[in-house]
Amino acid sequence: MEEKQKPEWDDKKNLERKVFDFFTLSQLGKSLISIQDMDNLARVFASSVYETSDASNVTLLIYDIESKAFAYQYSIGLDAEKVKDVSFVEEEGLFWRVLNGGEPFPIKDSAGNYHFEKVIRKFNLHLLDSLIWVPLMVKNVLRGVLTLGDKKGGTPYEEKELVFISLLATQAAVAIDSAILDQQKSRATLALGRKMENLSVLYDVSKAMNFVNDLKKTLLLILDKSRNAVNAQKGSIMLLNKETQLLEVKVVRGIDPIAEKKINDGEMECTKIKVGEGVAGKVAETMQYMVVDDAGKDNRFKQSSASNVQNIVCIPLTAEGACIGVMNISNKLTGEKFTEEDISLLLTLAGQVAVTINNANLYHLAITDGLTQLFINRYFRQKLQDEIVRARRYKRPLSLIMTDIDHFKKFNDTYGHQQGDAVLATTAKIFKRTVRETDIPCRYGGEEFAVILPETDSDGAVLAAERLRKEIEGFEYPGLKGEKLRVTISLGVATFPDHSDNVEGMIEKADIALYACKEGGRNCYRLYDPIMKNEKK
Ligand code: GH3
Ligand code: MG
Ligand code: MG
Repeated sequence: MEEKQKPEWDDKKNLERKVFDFFTLSQLGKSLISIQDMDNLARVFASSVYETSDASNVTLLIYDIESKAFAYQYSIGLDAEKVKDVSFVEEEGLFWRVLNGGEPFPIKDSAGNYHFEKVIRKFNLHLLDSLIWVPLMVKNVLRGVLTLGDKKGGTPYEEKELVFISLLATQAAVAIDSAILDQQKSRATLALGRKMENLSVLYDVSKAMNFVNDLKKTLLLILDKSRNAVNAQKGSIMLLNKETQLLEVKVVRGIDPIAEKKINDGEMECTKIKVGEGVAGKVAETMQYMVVDDAGKDNRFKQSSASNVQNIVCIPLTAEGACIGVMNISNKLTGEKFTEEDISLLLTLAGQVAVTINNANLYHLAITDGLTQLFINRYFRQKLQDEIVRARRYKRPLSLIMTDIDHFKKFNDTYGHQQGDAVLATTAKIFKRTVRETDIPCRYGGEEFAVILPETDSDGAVLAAERLRKEIEGFEYPGLKGEKLRVTISLGVATFPDHSDNVEGMIEKADIALYACKEGGRNCYRLYDPIMKNEKK
């Protein structure tokens, strides 16, 4: 158990980086959205970028509806007096096209000469002392620009840093968009028309979105907002299963309440739709929205007897240029057709659905290990911390099992690394199906797994450990060459609060018990005992 960092587990660093990035993103998203006014929003966003990017300066320019210009909003690392009047307006030409491309780009070449000399001079943009420009886009519309100066150390920006900053920018753009809408709303308090109602609908959604973590809840919330906003009877959100290329209904509203609850709770499945088939399938394929006004007579629409759809709008949900699902809204309560205004509102809401789903996917990727699909070390520690806090508050027990495959180095040497990897993936599956639903299996490192067992005392935990040991011992792993292979594991158990009351202590105690197993001949479990202490090197 000494060498914690196995060189063969290369992607661990990447994953940890992703987790860090994600937490920064979600924290930022949360704090941004709770800020109502643009000044504060700009300050928090610019500071976050400044803190995480190492840029010598950061400036935020935001689109101002009244002047129709991108105007200075906030900066760090520059003399505000000198830059406060900087602004630029839409112009034809390459500069504008690059900005609207939505990707971060350098404004200077490696020799320090500006790429868009004319525009820079015309609007005095050199005052910003910038190197990288990051467009802030919402639904393909440019809402602002974030500019970054040289890196403090003078080194160039790496690709992955720019990707991260542009993810931050996406998050911020949604919040900024809300703030712009809010400004617009307050400026137009006298003209209370339908349009303003729409804006407030949008604003509510984005406010709630960043607070609600549960993906399904969020999707239902947006679906309700969408239905209300356009006065429609029904709605559903389908996500594309990448492996099967089938659209699966995840949430639905406006159908028979019992069926609706079952579908939304994941207890009942709807018919899945192939990409390219029917209206939703076509929408997923072409990534263009479709409106069907008389579904009964339209043969593009597959009418099932229960669906009872008169008119329907299907909108693609896209992330990073690929389709990730479809949102369907159908049957206007007034019996009329969907208007252009309805559709443009639904397009904006669908954009928010896509951002939510993409963030959830990013989160999943960031906290799970690619080979085993178990939680990664960093998430394990956080989860253990959370569970300890919970156990302490409610005065409940909590156990931790640390396991390590026996003689796995020899296994690799004999059967090859690829075979070793296959065994790790299978072992993870066995762990998942052997532990209880509420237990949390994780990949601690290389061939070491950990299981957090909430609400479990030592007696319960040793039963679980023995069950795991037996399952693995008895399992015939299919070899890559058709042979039958076997491995065994050793397991150390520690319990809160008996053995330790903190994360590092729990890991250490379970580790000591695990080491005692190795000393004692392997393929067994041990519960931590203070007399073990001196045995560990
Ligand atoms: P022990 O019974 O004492 O645990 O012996 P061991 O050989 O398993 O010793 P140790 O746990 O220290 O060694 C871990 C070995 O597991 C080293 C490496 O060959 C293998 N290993 C670690 N991570 C991976 C991985 O991701 N894939 C594969 N195939 N092997 C791994
Ligand atoms: Mg090991
Ligand atoms: Mg081992």
